[in-house]
Amino acid sequence: MGLLALGTALDWPDAKQQAHLVRSWGIKQLLEIWNKAKGKERDAMLWGDEVEYLVVTYSKDDPKVLLSLRQADILQALASDKSLSKEGCAPPLPDGPHPQSSQPPPVFHPEFGRFMLEATPGKPWGIEFKELLEVEPNMKLRRCIAKDHMLPNEYPITLTTFPRLGSPGVFTDPFYPVSGPKLRSQFVPDEIANPHIRFPTLAANIRSRRGRKVQVNVPVFRDEKTPWPWRDPTVNYDLHQWPEDDDVRNGAAPDNFIHMDAMAFGMGSCCLQITFQAKNLTEGRQMYDQLSPLGPIMLALTAATPVYKGFLADTDVRWNQISKAVDDRTAEELGEKPLVNDRWRIPKSRYASNSTYISEDPRLRPEYLDPDLVIDENIKRQLLDGGMDDRLATHFAHLFIRDPIVIFNEDLKELDLNKTDHFENIQSTNWQHMRFKPPPADNSIGWRVEFRPMEIQITDFENAAFSVFMVLVTRVILSFDLNFYIPIKKVDENMETAHARDAVLTRKFYFRRNLFPATRKSRSPGSGTSTPIPSRPPTPTGPVEDEYRLMSINEIINGTAYARATTSSSSVPEPEEDEDEDFPGLIPLVESYLDSVNVDVVTRCELATYLDLIRKRASGELWTAARWIRHFVARHPAYQRDSTVGERITRDLVEAVVKIGQCEASGERFRGLCGEEVPLLEKLLAGFR
Ligand code: ADP
Ligand code: MG
Ligand code: MG
Ligand code: MG
Ligand code: MG
Ligand code: MG
Repeated sequence: MGLLALGTALDWPDAKQQAHLVRSWGIKQLLEIWNKAKGKERDAMLWGDEVEYLVVTYSKDDPKVLLSLRQADILQALASDKSLSKEGCAPPLPDGPHPQSSQPPPVFHPEFGRFMLEATPGKPWGIEFKELLEVEPNMKLRRCIAKDHMLPNEYPITLTTFPRLGSPGVFTDPFYPVSGPKLRSQFVPDEIANPHIRFPTLAANIRSRRGRKVQVNVPVFRDEKTPWPWRDPTVNYDLHQWPEDDDVRNGAAPDNFIHMDAMAFGMGSCCLQITFQAKNLTEGRQMYDQLSPLGPIMLALTAATPVYKGFLADTDVRWNQISKAVDDRTAEELGEKPLVNDRWRIPKSRYASNSTYISEDPRLRPEYLDPDLVIDENIKRQLLDGGMDDRLATHFAHLFIRDPIVIFNEDLKELDLNKTDHFENIQSTNWQHMRFKPPPADNSIGWRVEFRPMEIQITDFENAAFSVFMVLVTRVILSFDLNFYIPIKKVDENMETAHARDAVLTRKFYFRRNLFPATRKSRSPGSGTSTPIPSRPPTPTGPVEDEYRLMSINEIINGTAYARATTSSSSVPEPEEDEDEDFPGLIPLVESYLDSVNVDVVTRCELATYLDLIRKRASGELWTAARWIRHFVARHPAYQRDSTVGERITRDLVEAVVKIGQCEASGERFRGLCGEEVPLLEKLLAGFR
């Protein structure tokens, strides 16, 4: 996120009046940049990651851990430190000849939660393989610098959510009473959100537009002693301060669900995002489409979110909770009431999996597109008239069905075509699992694609591994011209599947059988391939249903051969008739690719440790953070087998995570240095070589 403009934010009734103006100016700005940038060529293959942190308070003798709400002070301290390269934070570099880092100091950004922080590298990473080895030390450097600008008892940790956010009692430092005018939450105070006017306005206007509070209901995990049916014991049915207090009396909190009622429960989650710059528009559109079907797979593989509001959930990932936490659809748009005031029924929240493919690739069959896509025909017409092609016009005409939520009065004076603020207003509040980012107004950088589904991982080793893996997969896609297309509806289904507990091991996902289409000349995957890549007879016009099948993540990531060898006793259902056909697997493809290019031995070995983590995560040899946290809770002496994650467990979990961070910072990737933390780590990491 860029610098946050200051101004007078309109309340919802006023903002609604201006929505049309913002959309129409946004489209003009989009066309301006489109016409300026559509022919851009030869932009460099750059990429960058974003790591989000929770800031917690922890000290050895304190029985409580809390969320620190000092985000503004911490950012201030970071901003006023000119050097940002404290001696104590010299990055621990990997073995062997060290890449010369040309990185400026990292950049720190605010986030929705006042207990959050985001850090990006000082400048995007380049195409050199050696640079991939700088990512992990740089992530460690960021964490160290962040810690250096905090109080001694504050720590940046990379859990996706704070286990007791919204639990009764005290969970923030400082404490604020719940139920303020903006969020009207009975569980979290308004002060939980970043105080910049944009954030409380975003939350308030989503609530207002929707006509009631958001409803974030997560199925509770049913343990041996969980009373059943289970009623969320933290819900208060007797509040009468705001009209929205009626929500729970009107059925907002069903049995067997953990009930949450504010944007902070979703947007207060941390994720790992990767942005790629394409060489031109065509390549950007290709990357957007081809990475899209990988979204749910990577979500399941990075699962890290098993606890909400002090209870174990029956899901492992954050995605749907964020989706519900910012769902601003009205009862009419949701289909609960006949359409009278609103323009259409909208099947998805503005935070949801992608609804469009955008490439003009001939391999994109119309059957893959979403038959339920809602677009604003009027906006599409303007884009077509402005020279944009049908497919991309459809994409933006879909994003522009949404209202702008936060509008600053000062921005409505005149249209400035040297800016993209109105376009970005709509674009950046469409939170889909991929984002197609046009160049900024000054056209200084290229067309970019952002991969957004991954959950943040506890260690920087893991965060680097997943970042590097996605970079390598992207290179493989481009250099082998791979085809991952499946119908968007199947990607949606996969996204739901990814939520299941341990989906990585117990579920199957729709995935394309043949990544090498015969309808298009595919380049050779390189000579010295370690794994032969099967070729398949062309089936260019067969039924679409024949192009994909259900696969385990082990098969998708490691290939069928490896999967057969590693899942003999796993819980994945027995393969059906046609389901034991060969699939090469993404890691073998990455390895073929690495074989086909020039990578020095040291770099290749380091990359292998990252690939090993992904491989073992997919096969179940290593655990997801979600599984690890469940295990931690289950064996904790204070756990009563009743799904409740109390203060002591939370405190000890955060302590373990802080210690893992310290032990990782001590370098050498845990070898022998982590003492009693070793048993905690060994299920999570491949770092014990
Ligand atoms: P947002 O929050 O809107 O996704 P950020 O500015 O926080 O965007 O970060 C996006 C990421 O993109 C960062 O890692 C940054 O280093 C990276 N990045 C910046 N410029 C480019 C570029 N030209 N190509 C690829 N990545 C870039
Ligand atoms: Mg960002
Ligand atoms: Mg952002
Ligand atoms: Mg962010
Ligand atoms: Mg976020
Ligand atoms: Mg981002």
